[in-house]
Amino acid sequence: LVVFEGVSKSFGKLQAVRDISLSVHEGEFLTLVGPSGCGKSTLLNMTAGLFPPTEGSVTYRGTPVEPYNHRVGYMTQSDHLLHWRTVAKNIAVPLEIAKMSRGEIKDRVDELLELVGLAGFGENYPNQLSGGMRKRCALARLLAYDPETLLFDEPFAALDAQLRLRMQMEIRRIVAQLNKTVLFVTHDLDEAVSLADRCVVFSGRPGTISEVLDIPLPAERDLFSIRHNQKYA
Ligand code: ATP
Ligand code: MG
Repeated sequence: LVVFEGVSKSFGKLQAVRDISLSVHEGEFLTLVGPSGCGKSTLLNMTAGLFPPTEGSVTYRGTPVEPYNHRVGYMTQSDHLLHWRTVAKNIAVPLEIAKMSRGEIKDRVDELLELVGLAGFGENYPNQLSGGMRKRCALARLLAYDPETLLFDEPFAALDAQLRLRMQMEIRRIVAQLNKTVLFVTHDLDEAVSLADRCVVFSGRPGTISEVLDIPLPAERDLFSIRHNQKYA
């Protein structure tokens, strides 16, 4: 679905992503895990088409990715909710842009609120919600675009451990229910492994992948062993 071929990205002298080749399969939940600064967000930004690679190509269904296309939905680390609009009105933004009728918008928003577990909170304002509820709201708004593929950049980093566990289960339920393809960035190895169908582990060297793991993991496998082969089918 998404294919990275020999992708590198430099910012001036700094090489943030180094010669990465990787295919994302339709319907899979792929996690990307690695230390701060290893190039995870840069890879997501290129997947969203926000900037092009310096070398190599990123294609989506065989064509170069384009920015702001609604096949790919991107949830960055901050949720960017509009604080002057209610939860329901936040979720309605993409639907208003799509010029849906009022009645259609209401039905769709109700459906999304139900899906993310926010039924009954549509008339609240974002600052009346807990951190987890704000994440749910941001997720519902993202889903309102009905993207095929979802990109998440450390969506649960700011949540406490218990809430994070709950949101992990919820997100798996929701993407399975909607049959989405997911690229999910985290620096938490436990989270990466418990969520994923496959897990891409970045190495200590900036911008390079050390392993791509099929989950469930064989217990004896050494997660941190670095392989220098960067090519993965
Ligand atoms: P974190 O876990 O802290 O979010 P990350 O793995 O997402 O880290 P990136 O944000 O992809 O890391 O950054 C990789 C490297 O590229 C870093 O050294 C960062 O400083 C640099 N970088 C990222 N974006 C830019 C930019 N727009 N201009 C210049 N340098 C950048
Ligand atoms: Mg990042």
